[in-house]
Formats: sequence, structure tokens, C-alpha cells
Amino acid sequence: MPSPPCDRHTNLEMVPFGQTFIEVCPVPSCGRCHDDRGYFEVVDGKLVRGQISAPSRLFVATERIVKTLRARAGR
Ligand SMILES: [Zn+2]
Repeated sequence: MPSPPCDRHTNLEMVPFGQTFIEVCPVPSCGRCHDDRGYFEVVDGKLVRGQISAPSRLFVATERIVKTLRARAGR
């Protein structure tokens, strides 16, 4: 089975990760992985499947900041 390309770096083939069925993007800052169930990556120690775009990451960060601020405000 040929390695799929990274869905963020479509010109790059993912590389097999050890003796597993997991392939990882060769770009270190990307962190995109692929297995027989599709693309995934690990965000904050959690395995997240599907598309994770930069805006949604930003949204998660923003949401966290808002929660922190609300907690500080005592709401
Ligand atoms: Zn990539």
C-alpha cells in the first residue's frame, strides 16, 4: 500500500512510523498522521481525527483564553 500524501502538504508522501500502520508527515511542525481510519493528529495529548485547520486550532486557543478569563472574573 503506498503512503498517502499529507493533506496539508499534498506534495509530500507520509513516512511509515516504525512497525505500525501509522504514517506521519515528514514535516516536523505539521504533526499530521494517517492510519487505516484516516487522518489524525495529536492535539494536547488527545488523538483528534479528521480535518483540523489552523482557524479551528486558533478557535480552540481563543476559547481556552475566554474560559480562563471567565474563571478569573468568577463567572
Ligand atoms: Zn504535513
